[in-house]
Amino acid sequence: MHVLILGGTTEARRLAELLAAEPLPCLRVTNSLAGRVAAPRTPPGEVRVGGFGGADGLAAWLRGHEVDLLIDATHPFAGTISFNAARAAAATRVPLLALRRPGWLPVEGDVWHETGSLTEAAGLLSALGRRVFLTTGRMGLAAFAPLDDLWFLVRSVDAPEAPHPPCMEVLLDRGPFTLDGERELLRRHRIDVVVTKDSGGAATAPKLTAAREAGVPVVVVRRPPAPGGVSVVAEPRQAVQRVREAYARCAHPDAG
Ligand code: NAP
Repeated sequence: MHVLILGGTTEARRLAELLAAEPLPCLRVTNSLAGRVAAPRTPPGEVRVGGFGGADGLAAWLRGHEVDLLIDATHPFAGTISFNAARAAAATRVPLLALRRPGWLPVEGDVWHETGSLTEAAGLLSALGRRVFLTTGRMGLAAFAPLDDLWFLVRSVDAPEAPHPPCMEVLLDRGPFTLDGERELLRRHRIDVVVTKDSGGAATAPKLTAAREAGVPVVVVRRPPAPGGVSVVAEPRQAVQRVREAYARCAHPDAG
């Protein structure tokens, strides 16, 4: 049985680790990365890097490599690949499972401003403060480039490229982040406002707690739409269970 995991997330890597920790005989796992990060943390198992060439390319890859189960474990903001996965799965009749962490929900004490896009988020900032902690990643910085009267602390895995805001300090780092670390960061840089995507998950959530404690408002960019009609699990362990169920069906196709 061959499982293709579309990855690039903590959860995708965790899933690959769990599958590698208790290997099933004849279970082949391929992890697919887009190739955006210069030095990615590679998961165990086979790894392929780079786009497939749209939904048709992905469908051809599924057929050519005899994939039995496709798992879309990409980031909730990676909308294109998720729709391509749904189209390719439908075209090839390969079962598709989405591993998608739930979005964050505000709790008492949070001051959140929800927006539909990075551009909308940029439009809110001048009214909220002068020192901005921008955690939306290096892609999409162009939306903030016109804001020349604000100072930005930009945290990203790789160095951002232009266009970007003229007044910015770059912090090269990747999650998981600790609450103590996030508290210290907001304090040291005298942050007035945090900008985040609604990525969900635990690895990057401490910034929300730190902001709540400090009374710092957070601009939260809502998720783009995800394809409907796809079976979704929230946790890597649930995805492992689904792989095992599919494996059992592969091994004993006539049973139940
Ligand atoms: P996207 O807009 O949905 O995808 C753009 C194109 O990149 C896709 O059409 C596909 O190219 C290729 N691609 C994306 N994910 C791929 C994968 N896992 N394996 C092979 N090709 C992939 O995606 P994105 O927002 O640029 O994100 C790229 C990757 O970074 C994703 O794997 C995602 O999990 C990870 N990531 C994204 C974010 C974010 O905020 N967007 C944050 C953290 C991690 P083809 O059409 O040629 O197949």
